[in-house]
Amino acid sequence: MAEIQLRNVGKRWGSFVGVHNFDLTIADREFLVLLGPSGCGKTTTMRMIAGLEDVTEGEILIDGKVVNDLEPKDRDVAMVFQSYALYPNMNVYENIRFPLKVRGIDPATHDEKVRRASAMVELDDFLHRKPAELSGGQRQRVALARAIVREPNVFLMDEPLSNLDAKLRVSTRAQIKNLSHELAVTTIYVTHDQIEAMTLADRVVVMKKGIVQQVGSPTDIYDRPANTFVASFIGSPAMNLIEGRVEGGVFRAQHVDIPGIGAPDGPLTLGFRAEDAGLATGQGQITAPIYTLELLGDATMISVRVGGALVSVKADKSFRAEIGDPVSFSVPSEICHLFEAGSGARIG
Ligand code: ATP
Repeated sequence: MAEIQLRNVGKRWGSFVGVHNFDLTIADREFLVLLGPSGCGKTTTMRMIAGLEDVTEGEILIDGKVVNDLEPKDRDVAMVFQSYALYPNMNVYENIRFPLKVRGIDPATHDEKVRRASAMVELDDFLHRKPAELSGGQRQRVALARAIVREPNVFLMDEPLSNLDAKLRVSTRAQIKNLSHELAVTTIYVTHDQIEAMTLADRVVVMKKGIVQQVGSPTDIYDRPANTFVASFIGSPAMNLIEGRVEGGVFRAQHVDIPGIGAPDGPLTLGFRAEDAGLATGQGQITAPIYTLELLGDATMISVRVGGALVSVKADKSFRAEIGDPVSFSVPSEICHLFEAGSGARIG
C-alpha cells in the first residue's frame, strides 16, 4: 500500500523556480504519468519523491508519513532511469540480485526472487550474459527486473524507453503496462512522449515550466484540454488551433467561417481535432488550397494554411488531389474547442 501526497511542493535554485506549487494525491496502485516538454520539471518532481533532491517548499507524504527528511534508501521506492546503469562486470543474474545484497535481504530468498523477476521481463534465458552482450531492450528489461526484485511500494520511472528504437519502445511499453497491473504497485512515470502517457497512465499530469497545467485521465485530457498548451501537446497530430474573431456567433479567420459558436464577440482561439472534421460535400466552414497531403495508409491527412497556422483534416485513404487544389472542410461547431485569445484557457 502506498499513497503519495504532494502538498504544495516546490523546488527553487536561487531565484529559478524548477517546480511550482505541485499539489496532488497519487492513489495506491495508481499509474501516474508526468508529461511535458524538456525542462518542465518532471524529473525534478520525481527526484524529490525519491529523495534525490531536497524539497524547497511543501511536504511529500508516503502513506501519510512526511518523508521530506528521509534518505532515499528509507523511502521504499525503486527507480528505473533512461540510462540503465547496469554493472558491466556482473552478469544479468548478479545485476538483478544486487539490490537484495545491498539491502541485506536473507540470501536464502535471493534465487527465487531473481528468477521470478527475470521471468516477468522474459530474461530467463539471458541470466549468464554480461550487459555488453545484450541489446538495448534487454538491458532495459534487466533494469526493470532490478527494480521489481526489490518488491518496492513505489516505482519511479524516468523515461525508461527513450533509448530504445521505435519498435522496441512499443513492446517494452506494453510490458511495463502489464507489469504494473500484475504487480499492483504505485507507479510514477516521466515522459515527454504523449503517446506513452496516453497508453500507460491512469492519470496524466501535464506540466509546463514547472507549473501543472492539467491533471486528468487520458480521455479527459484528450477530450477537454484545459488550455491551448495541453491541446497542442496531446494528440497526433496536435489539435488544430486557429486564431480569429467571433462576430455575432460566427468564428472568422482567413478562409474560415464557422457559425454557431457560443462565445461573445471578440478575439478567440478555436481548436478542433483532425479526426473530428472531414471533407465537406458542399461548401464547408474552411475552404483553402491544399498545402500538403500525407498518405498514412489507413487515411489521408490533408493540410491547409489558415493565417499562420497549419490546419489538418483526416480524410478517406482513397482521397486524391494535388497540392494547390482547393479543398473544403466540414467543421461543425459541436467539434470545436474554445480558448481565450490571450491566456489560452479553455472557455468551452
Ligand atoms: P527533461 O525532459 O529534459 O529531462 P524535465 O522536465 O525532466 O526535462 P527537469 O530536469 O526537472 O526537467 O528540470 C526542470 C528545470 O530545472 C530545468 O529548467 C532545469 O534546467 C532546471 N534544473 C534542474 N536541475 C537544476 C540544478 N541542479 N540547478 C539549477 N537548475 C536546475
